Amino acid sequence: MKIIESPTQMQALAEEQRRRGERIGLVPTMGYLHEGHLSLMRAVRARVGVLVTSVFVNPTQFAPGEDLERYPRDPERDRQLMESEGVDVVFAPPVEAMYLPGAQTWVEVTGVTQGLCGAFRPGHFRGVTTVVAKLFNIVKPHLAAFGAKDYQQLMAIRQMVRDLNFDVEIIELPIVREPDGLAMSSRNAYLTPAERETALSLSRALNRGRAAVEGGMRDPHALVAEIRRELGERKGLEVEYVEVRDAATLAAVAEIDRPVVVALAARVSRTRLIDNVVVMPPG
Ligand code: AMP
Repeated sequence: MKIIESPTQMQALAEEQRRRGERIGLVPTMGYLHEGHLSLMRAVRARVGVLVTSVFVNPTQFAPGEDLERYPRDPERDRQLMESEGVDVVFAPPVEAMYLPGAQTWVEVTGVTQGLCGAFRPGHFRGVTTVVAKLFNIVKPHLAAFGAKDYQQLMAIRQMVRDLNFDVEIIELPIVREPDGLAMSSRNAYLTPAERETALSLSRALNRGRAAVEGGMRDPHALVAEIRRELGERKGLEVEYVEVRDAATLAAVAEIDRPVVVALAARVSRTRLIDNVVVMPPG
C-alpha cells in the first residue's frame, strides 16, 4: 500500500495507471475509519484494479465554530484498516497542499444543497463539492463511492457530476449501523455512554416513521410531527431538523405518494448527528 501526500505525485500515478488500462476507484473519507467507510472500500475493491482511499479532514466544509480542530484522528489505525481492505493507494495530503495560498475557485451546487443540512451548516456543501471536484482531478477515478448516510451530500455530488460532465461513475452504498441501530459515524467517538444511549433515539424515531409510512401515512407534516414527538421525549437531545423529501430529487413533497427520504439532524450535547431512511409508500 502506497501512501501519497503530494497531489502532483498522485496525479502522476493515476495517469500511469490509466495508461496501463487500469480502472481507478476512489473512496473519499475524513479518516477515523469505521465499518461504513470499509463497506465503501469493499464495494470499490470488487470493481476496479486500483483502489485509492483519500484521508483528508477538509477544512472548507467546516463552518466557523464547528468541530474541525477536535475532529477525531487515528492515522495508524486507519492505515492498518485500509491495508487489510486491500487499498492500493492512500492519498493523504496536508491542508497546505490542497489549498494553495491565493485559491479563488469554488464549486457550488445550488438546488439540492438548500434546506436540510444546508440550512444549518453555511458553506458546508460548497466545501464538500469543491474538495470532491479537486479529488476527482487529482485521483482521476473512473468510479467513486459515497454512503447514503450523508444523503444530501450524495445528491450534491451526483448533481455536480452531471452539471460539470465529470467522467466519474458514482456508486451509493447503504448506511451501515451498529447492532442497536445507531448509524456509524466518526463523530460517535465524541459520545459518552449516556449520550450514546440518547443518540439511539434518532434511528428509533426514523424506524417509527418508516412504520408509519408503510402503514399508510401519506401526510408529510403528520410524519414529521410523529418523529418529532418520538425525539422530543428525550432529554439532552436538540432537534435541528426533521424533513421529508422526494428521495430522487430532494424536492419537498405535499403527499407521500412516491419514495421519500426522511432525514434528520440533532445535537446530543455538543455532538451533531445526522441520520435518514428512504421509505416507499405501500403499493
Ligand atoms: P466521512 O469520513 O464521514 O466524510 O465519510 C466518508 C464517506 O463514508 C462518505 O461517503 C460517507 O457517506 C460514508 N459513510 C460515513 N458513515 C457511513 C455509514 N454509517 N454507512 C455508510 N457510509 C458511511
